[in-house]
Amino acid sequence: MSRKKVIAANWKLYKNTAASNEFFTAFLPLVAGHDRDEIVICPTFLCIPAAVAATTASSVHIGGQNLYWKQEGAFTGEISAGMLHHAGCSHVIIGHSERRQYFHETDDTVNLKLKAALEAHLVPIVCVGEVLEEREAGLTEDVLRRQVQGALRGMSGEKAAALIVAYEPVWAIGTGKTATPAMAVEAHQVIRTEVAECLGDDHANTTRILYGGSVKPENANALMSEVEIDGALVGGASLDAVSFFKIVHW
Ligand code: PEP
Repeated sequence: MSRKKVIAANWKLYKNTAASNEFFTAFLPLVAGHDRDEIVICPTFLCIPAAVAATTASSVHIGGQNLYWKQEGAFTGEISAGMLHHAGCSHVIIGHSERRQYFHETDDTVNLKLKAALEAHLVPIVCVGEVLEEREAGLTEDVLRRQVQGALRGMSGEKAAALIVAYEPVWAIGTGKTATPAMAVEAHQVIRTEVAECLGDDHANTTRILYGGSVKPENANALMSEVEIDGALVGGASLDAVSFFKIVHW
């Protein structure tokens, strides 16, 4: 079963609109005609309209980094799935470890956000991954199974057909430490088995599972060459157009 790889950029709290425009001016000519992989850029909310305008004539997709599960209401500071979709986003990151760590997101809120994203026809990129203490205690498999189960609770395979999961070992995010391809493959297999438990084998076989954690031009090829690794979620190395282009061209 061949799955189109997804190379997604998470810009976190970096780049204002001017810097975002500069990135697209340099990046889009480099990836013109590149359709082997699905390219997704997730800028800050404020940059989304300009990013959507810059990429309309290209095959590059724009995504949000987060959403709130209510459609609208008295929820100061939040953005809904429908609003992201209306602004031209096609994808959204959910449950990034920084959201879990600094903004108290839980498997339950990930579940609510995932349902809201799917309702609004956004492609959700659900992040899961263990912290260093959990890996060292031999708990990686338990953590991944719990996070996938929590995210997919009450969900059918049909409803979650667009699901993308990102395996992001927290100890590898922004640290320069990367999981070896073998470590990533092992974790992806655990995730795929759990997706199969929740959604069925057919859906598990089509679900794309990305690796994230210090992906760079130097290690992208070894990771992306693995059949079990269906793409990358890239933070730091996605901020520079040439560096991200080299990852896209792994
Ligand atoms: C991320 O933010 O999802 C990420 C993987 O960051 P980095 O590539 O910088 O480790």
